[in-house]
Amino acid sequence: MASLNPCLELRPLGNTGLKLSCVGFGASPLGNTFGPVSEQDALATVREAFRLGINFFDTSPYYGATLSEKVLGKALKALGVPRNEYIVSTKCGRYSEGFDFSAERVTRSIDESLARLQLDYVDILHCHDIEFGSLDQVVKETIPALQKLKEAGKIRFIGITGLPLEIFTYVLDRVPQGSVDVILSYCHYSINDSALLDLLPYLKSKGVGIISASPLAMGLLTENGPPEWHPASPELKAACKAAASHCKQKGKNLPKLAMQYSFTNKDISTILVGMNSVRQVQENVAAATEFATFGQDGEMLAEVEAILFPVKNQTWPSGIQQ
Ligand code: NAD
Repeated sequence: MASLNPCLELRPLGNTGLKLSCVGFGASPLGNTFGPVSEQDALATVREAFRLGINFFDTSPYYGATLSEKVLGKALKALGVPRNEYIVSTKCGRYSEGFDFSAERVTRSIDESLARLQLDYVDILHCHDIEFGSLDQVVKETIPALQKLKEAGKIRFIGITGLPLEIFTYVLDRVPQGSVDVILSYCHYSINDSALLDLLPYLKSKGVGIISASPLAMGLLTENGPPEWHPASPELKAACKAAASHCKQKGKNLPKLAMQYSFTNKDISTILVGMNSVRQVQENVAAATEFATFGQDGEMLAEVEAILFPVKNQTWPSGIQQ
């Protein structure tokens, strides 16, 4: 099955040689993290994503205690297309039973992930939410272990993920340039929080590819609002709810506005959005193609930015103190 949408922009990912669709498929919802999703819906969602030009799929053993990897693997296999037509990332070090960034655990982890995904290799293996481990262990033990997995052909590129932006500078300042290929930041490049932008010159100087996840701030910027477990403060939740109501009142769609905001900076290769229905895929791909043709709805964006101004760049604690 070939992609029907050559219009969905592809962007290079750092020095990897990979070209990622500007909308990336976040598969955490396939692990039921935002509510139950039937396998049938999950398979149809992935199929529609690929059909509409999305070529990048991200998961983790942590999402739904391995369910996301299993369902994504099944859905990708069902596409029946050559392996090089899609790009897959998964993660290591974070599991439903806790964190473990040891060389032994991450080495075992990739074999488990490949079995669940029904793949021979993944394109990117990320160390997942490293602020919950020892960053020095990540530098000295985890990344060298991942280098060996690269040499063994089980992974093509190495990434690190997490919420506090300081983790990226900490690690990248301490590893040989080129040993980390990609960083994945989340909840720092959307209308309510754009702190990632300040780090871009540094990240580019290190030659890493940049992935930004959670353009809808993990549900804050949707009409339905965030899930129970969302860590934002009541103040931030209230401001986002007010923004969503304002958009609805004006007949506009906040997720679309938020997606389009996130496409603006092309140094960010892909915007990873979590999707659990064919409709969400269609809406988010349409947001990208409309943005490419017409640009951003500047007037509406200014109104929403004004509502969110009091909470701009407000984040929440994550991880252990180093
Ligand atoms: P998100 O901001 O993408 O929001 C997802 C929520 O928005 C889900 O409830 C989804 O159903 C809903 N949604 C999607 N499109 C919509 C639309 N058009 N209209 C209304 N609602 C819509 O948050 P996320 O899923 O947490 O982040 C995206 C992906 O990025 C994850 O699935 C995961 O793959 C990755 N991620 C990684 C990390 C990490 O490595 N630490 C952290 C966060 C996210």
